[in-house]
Amino acid sequence: MPTTIIAGNWKMNTTRQEARALVEQMRDALDAVEGVTTLLCPPFVHLETVADLLRGTSVALGAQNMHPESSGAFTGEVSPDMLRGLCEYVILGHSERRELFGETDEFVNAKVRAALAAGLRPILCVGERLEQREGGEADAVVERQVGVGLEGVEDASALVVAYEPVWAIGTGRAATPDVAQSMMATIRGALAARFGADAAGEAPLLYGGSVNLGNVEEYARQPDVNGALVGGASLDAEAFTKIVQLAARHS
Ligand code: PEP
Repeated sequence: MPTTIIAGNWKMNTTRQEARALVEQMRDALDAVEGVTTLLCPPFVHLETVADLLRGTSVALGAQNMHPESSGAFTGEVSPDMLRGLCEYVILGHSERRELFGETDEFVNAKVRAALAAGLRPILCVGERLEQREGGEADAVVERQVGVGLEGVEDASALVVAYEPVWAIGTGRAATPDVAQSMMATIRGALAARFGADAAGEAPLLYGGSVNLGNVEEYARQPDVNGALVGGASLDAEAFTKIVQLAARHS
């Protein structure tokens, strides 16, 4: 069985003081939950602060993005070598990066390979836009994102994939558990074709898109959903802690 992972993506939110307060409010309760890997993904500038606060707990740390090159003239970017040793996970190909910053599947693939080479665990985000779902293209879009995103990757053991339909992110319009499960089966199939059924069966597949206290258990009950990538609700210590506790009941 894959590990259950609940990851909080803080996006571009929190001052340093707010980041510190948020971690202090939930750290002990998150640390006490068993059977779930809990992961906080604060903005780059808070990674070190949050790492210090999480030291000695079971709560893991992730970055929200990364450039594929290890160093050089890429003003404003952060490299795999900078993240190595600071955090364990890195979110790559989030739909906000794809939609707002023009990231292509090929660029995301370069990041995934660079993350793996640096010993980081990539959380590859995939998901279709509303018009693609309405046009019956959702599976094909996601299969392409997974296929190109993992080009040249030979070992799936460090990989996490998050299915985040664009129309469900930050909208309050979460995908139904059936839609999530169906897409996870598609993703699992694409992973099996590339890495074999055993490796595909071990890869944690997360659902993301308006996950909250009220719906997390529905996703956790789906056989191919191994956790969640949580945006808005991860900024509320009480709500996020409860989400992790509820997910643990099904792990
Ligand atoms: C996200 O940012 O990855 C996300 C899923 O956001 P939200 O939970 O707010 O929809």
